[in-house]
Amino acid sequence: MREAQPMIRGVRGAPDILPVEVIRWQRAEAAARRILENYGYQEIRTPIFERTELFVRGIGEGTDIVDKQMYTFEDRGHESLTLRPEGTAPVIRAYLEHRLFTQGDLCKVYYIGPMFRHERPQAGRFRQFHQIGAEAIGVADAAVDAEVIDLLAHLFDTLGVDTWELQLNSIGDEACRPLFRERFARYMRGRKEKLCPDCLVRLERNPLRILDCKVAGCRALVAEAPNSLDSLCEKCETHFRRLQELLQLLKIDYTINNHLVRGLDYYTRTTFEFVNPALGAQNAIAGGGRYDLLVGEMGGPPTPGIGFAIGLERLLISLPPEDSKEAWAGVFAAVLGEEAFQMGLRIIQELRRKGIRAALDMEGRSLKSQMRLAHKECYRHALILGDEELKAGLATVKDMAQGGQEQVPLREVVDWLMSRERRGAAQEGSDR
Ligand SMILES: [Zn+2]
Ligand SMILES: [Zn+2]
Repeated sequence: MREAQPMIRGVRGAPDILPVEVIRWQRAEAAARRILENYGYQEIRTPIFERTELFVRGIGEGTDIVDKQMYTFEDRGHESLTLRPEGTAPVIRAYLEHRLFTQGDLCKVYYIGPMFRHERPQAGRFRQFHQIGAEAIGVADAAVDAEVIDLLAHLFDTLGVDTWELQLNSIGDEACRPLFRERFARYMRGRKEKLCPDCLVRLERNPLRILDCKVAGCRALVAEAPNSLDSLCEKCETHFRRLQELLQLLKIDYTINNHLVRGLDYYTRTTFEFVNPALGAQNAIAGGGRYDLLVGEMGGPPTPGIGFAIGLERLLISLPPEDSKEAWAGVFAAVLGEEAFQMGLRIIQELRRKGIRAALDMEGRSLKSQMRLAHKECYRHALILGDEELKAGLATVKDMAQGGQEQVPLREVVDWLMSRERRGAAQEGSDR
């Protein structure tokens, strides 16, 4: 006898998405794809791993992601690779490598897929998590910022997120950020004794990272500290004002949060977050910002850009519960005996090839339990085939949704079912 083997479990923080849950994922992804494509975005699929250097340069040393959270490993060729912790750096790499900028001034791409960060597992945080993100590269005008924000508002309204709020900030550019950084650092240097040990290091290496600290004492200091809006240069102020005017024109409500910096170094000017206050501490469902310096820092020509990422896990818990029961559709062949089974199998094959959802019993169930199964799985029609039906050249078709049954000649049964199924689908379409 073979010894019983211990069961191998999945990795903590990397959950399975089971068939009962996946319907919600597919609906959110499908809505996002449709809306993104309506706004002129095309999908791009970059690899799950990249050279480690890409993220170190693209995200920045001194950030929590680069310092503490990356899944970095040496492959068999002794090259340092990293599972992507975010989607922007890979997209910019692909944009430069494949010269997507030669196809017109504004390059609009989106991606959907898993990201990887080694974080302490807690509610709403995973080590493999999923993002829907988009990048609009090549145009500096605030109209692009407004369009990106409008797209997200449209998506969240379409999906039924009931309580989203938009928070907006500007963190300046290379002209005015040094002034802000200096004011901010001077303020913090005068209050060193109140900073946590991590922030003391940040104060030397990259003082603005103190804005991301979660320690209560540091947050209290940040609340009183100089903010970026007070240090904006004229160009940044004009950009921020135009964005707000356009959002008002588009009737999108927002609040200014002058401490919103986002955890990444590459943002310039506009930063924004969509939050769902119902989610508690981890309440951001999407965030993004402008990154006019990033393409240059990645070795490309100076090129402005803006992007966002939606956290799919948090978006999904923000959606209203839905009726998980599928709409009545398709044909279930309930068969008795081998001859009927073979007839049923051929009919099912034909229906499937014509695009109809169809199934039949392969476990030799009783007629009663086949009918119960057809009902449970919401098949619109049950096609009943037994000895008597075959002898008479007829099939009994039962309407599972509305009740009632009819005898249909076997020769015509496929066409008959096709027209009934099509009519059902058309009716449902018009109900929505
Ligand atoms: Zn701190
Ligand atoms: Zn500026």
